[in-house]
Amino acid sequence: MTSSFVPSVPYRGRFAPSPTGLLHAGSLTTAVGSYLEAYSRGGEWLLRMEDLDPLREMAGAASAILHTLEALGFEWDGEVVYQSRRHELYRAALDQLIRDGLAYACACTRKEIAMHAQRGVDGFVYPGTCRDGCPSDRPGRAWRLRVAPGETVFVDRLQGEYRQELERDIGDFVLLRADGFWAYQLAVVVDDAEQGVTDIVRGADLLVSTPRQIAVQRALGVATPSYCHLPLMVNAAGEKLSKQTLAPAISPEAAAEELRRALVRLGHVPPAECHDLAELWAWARTNWSLARVPVGPVAV
Ligand code: GLU
Repeated sequence: MTSSFVPSVPYRGRFAPSPTGLLHAGSLTTAVGSYLEAYSRGGEWLLRMEDLDPLREMAGAASAILHTLEALGFEWDGEVVYQSRRHELYRAALDQLIRDGLAYACACTRKEIAMHAQRGVDGFVYPGTCRDGCPSDRPGRAWRLRVAPGETVFVDRLQGEYRQELERDIGDFVLLRADGFWAYQLAVVVDDAEQGVTDIVRGADLLVSTPRQIAVQRALGVATPSYCHLPLMVNAAGEKLSKQTLAPAISPEAAAEELRRALVRLGHVPPAECHDLAELWAWARTNWSLARVPVGPVAV
């Protein structure tokens, strides 16, 4: 007898903060949404510390983020993974791309690029100067992905269809930086693939990065996960909350109030009788629905 039952791949989500600052309303809201989506799908939820860039890191931020998440009652599956301990994985991925002719060395400085390039959707579009080799007197410093022509299209579970033409909008982008640090675009893809992440729920500021990540997935021959970009959290001036815009840190001492506010920002208003953390989480786990989450920016 044939069966029409098709077993689905189990859901595995993750939260991947960068310890460049403490958790703020934007990053906490992402954590809450990604956790609740994983929970409601009967999935796992991993925690990965994206500590690849020591120059931008804030001392103590990684442990403070973990402490705040614990104080708010988050539970994650398995050990916390630290990108700073996974250099060999990124090296192996870059080596594969180089072997396959999909990555090339680049000798250009930022200044040179700024002089010759057009602006795209996320900074300058690399004009392809070193695509066919670096000048003989100048060694390559960074490594770039050779992007394929044509449009990259994907359907985000909340934001809908999103398109980019990488050649025109971004250009060949950096995988290993000239200063020797791994680029976020490579590391995030390698880790999500290696950790078996099936569903990425994160902030809408990363929507613009997703086509680059899909390009890296295709180049490496790994699966593309499903994407869901939660609304951007903005301040009264309409700026994205971040360390640069002086977003206040989440207070672990006011855990229940912080969780309630994050739920409200995600379109889930808990009843007044939910006071403590356990009551709020119980209500949120029962009532979570992506359909209630706003698409557009949310003022905090
Ligand atoms: N580490 C990134 C950030 O904090 C998020 C990466 C991701 O979710 O893909 O902005």
